[in-house]
Amino acid sequence: MLDVSMDRIVRDSNATTFDGWTGPATGSVKKRPVLALVVPCYNEEAALPETCRQLRELLSQLIKDGVIDAASTIVLVDDGSRDRTWELIEGANRIDGRIKGLKLSRNRGHQNALLAGLLTATGDVLISLDADLQDDLSAVERMLAAHARGADVVFGVRDRRDVDTPFKRQSARLFYKLMNGMGVETVADHADFRLMSRRSIEALRGFGEVNLFLRGIVPMLGFKTETVTYDRKARIAGETHYPLRRMVALAADGVLAFSTMPLQLIFYAGIIISMVAAGLACWALGVRLLTAESVPGWASVVIPMYFLGGLQMLALGIMGGYLARIYSETKQRPRFIIQQSV
Ligand code: UDP
Ligand code: MG
Repeated sequence: MLDVSMDRIVRDSNATTFDGWTGPATGSVKKRPVLALVVPCYNEEAALPETCRQLRELLSQLIKDGVIDAASTIVLVDDGSRDRTWELIEGANRIDGRIKGLKLSRNRGHQNALLAGLLTATGDVLISLDADLQDDLSAVERMLAAHARGADVVFGVRDRRDVDTPFKRQSARLFYKLMNGMGVETVADHADFRLMSRRSIEALRGFGEVNLFLRGIVPMLGFKTETVTYDRKARIAGETHYPLRRMVALAADGVLAFSTMPLQLIFYAGIIISMVAAGLACWALGVRLLTAESVPGWASVVIPMYFLGGLQMLALGIMGGYLARIYSETKQRPRFIIQQSV
């Protein structure tokens, strides 16, 4: 393996770019990168027409300005929508061949749909964004500029989130705090609006996990990263697909897939409670042996019993969370199945 790739590097060292390599061009002639905008879409019939219009306009502008290659594309991934999303994507593809469509065989969730797009799209540089255009398109050019300066991964970071409800803002803040507290490396206020170079995508391909939390994996890839800030806007149409239930599930995936701290917390809780129990036992024994009275009380028996019962269930729940994830990882089922592409 190593020999082959070394050979390639030696052979191609005079070229500015070579197959599968999109690192910063070091030669004298800089090739314009082929860009693919990757957009997961789930029941987005209300937003798609406007999204397609704006993305096509953006692509044309960037090509005209000489920032990207004319072979650049827009890859729309239909995540098993139940509305007319796929028909709209097919229609858009007929009008403009730069728009490509991928249809997953069923709904697999945002993270898997995004992964399907990232691992399938061709191009030197991939930028993922939401179909509702909440991510500011003007940041795309700044992301490309950061890539041209040598960054392999560029994170879009929300500067302000005025349009989100106070609940969403607070829960998001709590989430990033929790992740950091648990030792998971995430970029605060960065969702899935990011640029990735070809080689960082190929590195991502090596992460075969089923419990997918891209925001945790991408910082683990290493490479040179940059951030670009933008104002998060309101959805152009339609409704959010991230109700509280899904946000909690995503947060659980984030913590349980990247940190074993909850298991350590169980261990520490066990130690503290054992010490308290030992103290109580000494006290009870002392009362019994040194005085004429016996230890009074129903409360001193029943309260710790319920408390410990609850704590044990909690501990089992945490272990169960890991166990379930190990179970799904060992099966290695495909993370997405592509039914059709245009
Ligand atoms: N999405 C998806 N599959 C799902 C849910 C959402 O592909 O099961 C897509 C959705 O179409 C959108 C993106 O993921 O492009 C983000 O979803 P949404 O805008 O509803 O989330 P929010 O921005 O409110 O957190
Ligand atoms: Mg959105």
